[in-house]
Amino acid sequence: MTAPRRSYRDCYLPAMTAAEIERLPDKARAPVIVATGAIEQHGPHLPVAVDSLMGQYFAEHLLPLLSDDVNCYLAPPITIGKSNEHVGFPGTLTISKTTLRRQLKLIARQIKAWGFGTMAILNTHGGNTDVILYTLREIQAEFGLRTEVLRAGVDFNLPPLEQQLGMHANIAETAWLQVIAPSLVRMDLAVREYPDESVVAGQLRPEAAPATFAWVTSDLSQSGIMGDAPRGTPEKGRVWLKATSRGYAEAIVRLEKAGRPNAPE
Ligand SMILES: [Zn+2]
Repeated sequence: MTAPRRSYRDCYLPAMTAAEIERLPDKARAPVIVATGAIEQHGPHLPVAVDSLMGQYFAEHLLPLLSDDVNCYLAPPITIGKSNEHVGFPGTLTISKTTLRRQLKLIARQIKAWGFGTMAILNTHGGNTDVILYTLREIQAEFGLRTEVLRAGVDFNLPPLEQQLGMHANIAETAWLQVIAPSLVRMDLAVREYPDESVVAGQLRPEAAPATFAWVTSDLSQSGIMGDAPRGTPEKGRVWLKATSRGYAEAIVRLEKAGRPNAPE
């Protein structure tokens, strides 16, 4: 019996030859993960690559957690996302919503042409979310490729203010980076800064609210942080990284099982 593919290297499609991809036996049901990240300012204490680093971390660490009979593959990640809300800060790169949509559609079309049946998006940047959702509906309708945005579904039990307004370079991102790339973190520069509550009072909030408003980071934050960054610790980071990797692995298992020929609709 051959061991299941479980390392990043073994699942990474660009590391294979065209003939190896042609011969993969489980393309009809094994999801292909496309990680979508960003390169954008993350306050004075974190590197601009946070979102893209996180996507690669979770893609790598969900693999050993998959059950033995489930496999998935990794497409090259989209590392520059739609980050126009952060362009006022050095280090931010951005692509337009049109470019992101086109990239996703062209990758999806090829994935389908190679013989795969499912594409899973592992998105670690909120600014990409709206574009991804409407583009996946187009991909499913036009190419007949099953698509899903993976959800880790983890409750970090954060303080209420952080839950409401901790949107960026926040407790979680600060905690994660201290574990996965400690040499890139400057905790001596981490500050607590939340958007002015008068700006975001009540039901009108920048994210995850019944009514949202258009914003750029410089409207809401001097430091580029929206959250209580100093409260991010490696101890929390280790727990949350494990839980989030497990949540993504469970999402892949559900998606793969739903794609089997005898799976209930
Ligand atoms: Zn981020």
